[in-house]
Amino acid sequence: MRVAGVSHTFGGVYALRDVDVDVAPGELRAVIGPNGAGKSTLFNLVGGQLAVRTGTVVLAGARVDRLPAHRRARLGIGVVFQGARIFGGMTALENAMVGAHAVTGGGFTAAVFRLPTHRREEREIRRTAREALARVGLADWADRPAESLPLGQQRALQVARALCGRPRLLLLDEPAAGLRAAERDALARLFEELKAGGLTMVVIEHDVAFVTRLADRVTVLDLGRVIAEGTPAAIRADPAVVAAYLGS
Ligand code: ADP
Ligand code: MG
Repeated sequence: MRVAGVSHTFGGVYALRDVDVDVAPGELRAVIGPNGAGKSTLFNLVGGQLAVRTGTVVLAGARVDRLPAHRRARLGIGVVFQGARIFGGMTALENAMVGAHAVTGGGFTAAVFRLPTHRREEREIRRTAREALARVGLADWADRPAESLPLGQQRALQVARALCGRPRLLLLDEPAAGLRAAERDALARLFEELKAGGLTMVVIEHDVAFVTRLADRVTVLDLGRVIAEGTPAAIRADPAVVAAYLGS
C-alpha cells in the first residue's frame, strides 16, 4: 500500500496534511498518534469511506483512490472500523457471513437483511465464513449468538468478518480499544498469526505499547502530519514522539 501526498480537510480545517505512508507486502505497520491526530481519517481515505481529494492511494501498483469502498474491498482492502459493533440477533457465523456477502453475493445490505442468495453461493459463503472463524480461533463459537461473546472474541469476530473478503491488506482502527490485558494479548497473538500467514496489516492504535511490540515499522501522526517513522525501538526513543504524547 502506498499513500502519497494525501491531505484532507473538514470544513477548511486540516485533518491530514501531505501524508506519505508506504507499507511493504507482508508488513505489519502500526499507525499511532494522540487523539485527533488524523488516524481514522487516514484509515477512511484508504478504505474509501472518505473521498480522496488530494493525493493518491495505490494498492499493489494500482491506483484505488477514485474507487468506491466496495470496489476497493473487492481488490483486497479489508477494514475493521473503530468501535465496530457486531450484529445482535445473529450468530457468530452469520456475522462472519456478512463479510463474505459484502464482496461476493448481494452485497452488504442484502447480507444484513438476509435477502435470499443463490443456494450454491450461500454454501460457498458459509464455508468461507467457517474458515475465517477457525482462523481467528472462533470455530467452537460459530453457532452462538454473537452478542453473547466476550468483548475480546467479538473483536476477533470483526477480524473474521473482514477476512471473509479475502483481503491482502487489512486495516484495523483501534482494534484493542477497551480490551483487558489478557484479551489484548490474545488479539496480539492473532495478529502475529495473520502476519505469519502473509497478510499485510495496518493497525491504527492510540495505545503505543500494544502495537510497538507487534509492528515491523511504526508511523507516528500528530496534528495531521507524519512526525516520525521507523522501527518500534527507534520510535520509542524519538524525542518528537515523546513530546507529542506528553502534550496530549
Ligand atoms: P484520530 O483517529 O487520530 O483520533 P481523526 O482522524 O478522527 O483522528 O480526526 C482528525 C481531526 O479531524 C480531528 O481534529 C477531528 O476533530 C477532525 N474530524 C474527523 N472527522 C471529522 C468529521 N467527520 N467532521 C469534522 N471534523 C472531523
Ligand atoms: Mg480515530
